[in-house]
Amino acid sequence: MRVMRECVRAAVAFILLGSAAAQSPQSANDVIDQVLRDGARTVARPVQQAREPIVMGVRVGQHDDRTRFVVELSEPVAMRTFTLTNPNRVVIDMPLVKWHLEGPPRTGGYGAVRSYRYGTFRTGNSRFVIDLAQPVNVGEPMVLEPVNGSGYRVVFDLFPTAQAKFDRAAGWPSDLRARDNAAQVASLPQNPPPLRSRIKRVIVIDPGHGGTDPGTHSTDGQAEKELVLGVSLQLERVLLARGYTVHMTRDSDVAVELSERRAIAQSWHADLLISVHANSHPDPGITGLSIYTLSEKGSDAEARAVAKKENEADKRSGAERAGDNDVASILLALSQRDTMNKSSRFAEAAISTLRNETDILPHKPHRDAAFVVLKSPEVPSVLIELGYMTNPDEARKMQSDGWRARVARAIAAAVDRQFMTAAEAGPATGRASE
Ligand SMILES: [Zn+2]
Repeated sequence: MRVMRECVRAAVAFILLGSAAAQSPQSANDVIDQVLRDGARTVARPVQQAREPIVMGVRVGQHDDRTRFVVELSEPVAMRTFTLTNPNRVVIDMPLVKWHLEGPPRTGGYGAVRSYRYGTFRTGNSRFVIDLAQPVNVGEPMVLEPVNGSGYRVVFDLFPTAQAKFDRAAGWPSDLRARDNAAQVASLPQNPPPLRSRIKRVIVIDPGHGGTDPGTHSTDGQAEKELVLGVSLQLERVLLARGYTVHMTRDSDVAVELSERRAIAQSWHADLLISVHANSHPDPGITGLSIYTLSEKGSDAEARAVAKKENEADKRSGAERAGDNDVASILLALSQRDTMNKSSRFAEAAISTLRNETDILPHKPHRDAAFVVLKSPEVPSVLIELGYMTNPDEARKMQSDGWRARVARAIAAAVDRQFMTAAEAGPATGRASE
């Protein structure tokens, strides 16, 4: 019952959104544009870039009397549906969105949905086309609020109906020019492209420190902030060349708060955050790369010391904030969403690919501690300490172009391994019902 009330309230919100758009005397595409512009104005973003809402997932489920088509979005958008005959289709129009779908679309065996396609039109709006296995009547869409890390879900119920009834209701809305749109619908791919090419994984690279915070430094005076930016930019090039979407938390010598770095990764719905640092130690004999994931207590005193040092970045850049120490609750959220397992899996993979290219810390190269920058509940995150700048040989090595290129390729190989495994393990979406 509570769920039903939630649905009704959400549906009212949806209708209000729809009627606000309907008050405008403009064409549907103008309305969609306007909603898009209004949305961009009212939604506060941790990053400055203007962005489209993101379609995060699609699920199709068969219930007793209906087939349910669920679209998951980063924020609510205005949608409208209409139906077309010959062949029978349902069209869902919405403003320009970014497609960020995991797993292949369902292509059979799901009640009224034979398959679905999606795309973005040159007119600046996006569209789903559901190819139907049987004529349907489309119920009022419901919008469900985010729960447990999901996005907003818009639920379309498809009830079986007679072909004659479907035919009477079908047709292009009067404001859309049928011929242009028919051509565009036809141009949407009939068969979804293969999984590997459809998934464009989003990787956020976070070069540590910057601006007034230099981090540690080598005996010959190089600052950690310069070293890690150089390696990060190299990694960006390698990942872009492999087809990943890559965002940087900084790409120049500027200070960025730790919480802002996290917010950037979250706002891009990153599949992985890689924070890049270099280490220091009172003993100049210590060398080797290590990788950290988040924990509350820290695996050992050394790990805790590294976390303390890296967490002080905000203090050095004058941006320290109180109230960022709720690691226990973050860890709970991480475990609920499998984020911690994904982070650890990547850390292990990266150590094994990097082992061939550079010195690895001999004892326990994968450690954990309470790093502020790793605390995104939804984003698998690791922090790589490339090596010790306090060891003159290692500091010199880390400045060489050859070493940087090899290390960047080894990290990218681990990224490949991370997502190939996920794809092989089966589609991430496709839960049978809501
Ligand atoms: Zn650092």
